[in-house]
Amino acid sequence: MRSVRENLIDIQNNMLEVTDRPINIIAVTKYVSKERTKEAIEAGIGHIGESKVHDFLAKYEQFHQHDVKWHFIGTLQSRKVKEVISKIDYLHSLDRIKLAEEIEKRAEKQVNCFVQVNVAKEETKQGIDEKDLLQFVQSLHGFSKINVIGLMTMAPYTEDEKHIEKVFSTLQQLQKDVQALKQTNAPCVELSMGMSNDYPLAAKYGSTFVRIGSVLVGE
Ligand SMILES: *Cc1c(COP(=O)(O)O)cnc(C)c1O
Repeated sequence: MRSVRENLIDIQNNMLEVTDRPINIIAVTKYVSKERTKEAIEAGIGHIGESKVHDFLAKYEQFHQHDVKWHFIGTLQSRKVKEVISKIDYLHSLDRIKLAEEIEKRAEKQVNCFVQVNVAKEETKQGIDEKDLLQFVQSLHGFSKINVIGLMTMAPYTEDEKHIEKVFSTLQQLQKDVQALKQTNAPCVELSMGMSNDYPLAAKYGSTFVRIGSVLVGE
C-alpha cells in the first residue's frame, strides 16, 4: 500500500497544475483504521473528516489531542447533534432548519457550517435545492450559534467532466449570491467541493476545502 505521504504529494501536485491558491485537504477517514488515520496526521494533514456519528466519536476520542480540525461531512440527524456538536470544528451538511434549531439549542459556541446544496439534483443526495438556498440562509439570520462559512456540494459520479464542471461552477455562483446578502452570520467565504475522482476540477472552480478519502488514505 502506498503511504499517505506519497498520496498527499500526488494530490498537491495535481492541484498545483490547476491553481496556486492554497486549498485545504480534508482526509476522509471513514473507510480506514485508526492506524491509517494516525499516519495521515503524521503526514501533516490538518483536517480529518468523518460521516457517521459513531465513527467520528471513535476517531475524535483517539486523536483530539493532536493539532487537527474536525469535520463532520455526512448527514447529521437532529437527535444526534448533542453527541457531537461541541467536538465539531466544521459541519458540512447543514440543509434544514430543524437541524439549525437543534444546533442553536445545543452548541456552546458558534459552529462553522457549510450549507449543503444538491446542485446535481440527484434523488439520493442530501442538500437543499439551489432555488431555496437564499431563503434558507436568510432564515438562519439571528442564529447566534451558526456561522455559514460556506457552501458544500457533491458532484455526480460520472466520467462527464463537463457535467461535473457545471455543478462546481454553479456552486461558485451561488457562493457569490449568498455573499451579496451581506448577512453577518453568513460570510460564505469557503467552498467545500471535490472528492477523489473530481478534486482537480473543484480546484479550478474556487474550492477551498476538498474532501478526499480513497486516493489519499485508502478505501
Ligand atoms: C466519503 C465521502 C467523501 C470522500 O470520498 P472519496 O471518493 O473516497 O474521496 C467526501 N465527501 C463526503 C460527503 C463523503 O461521504
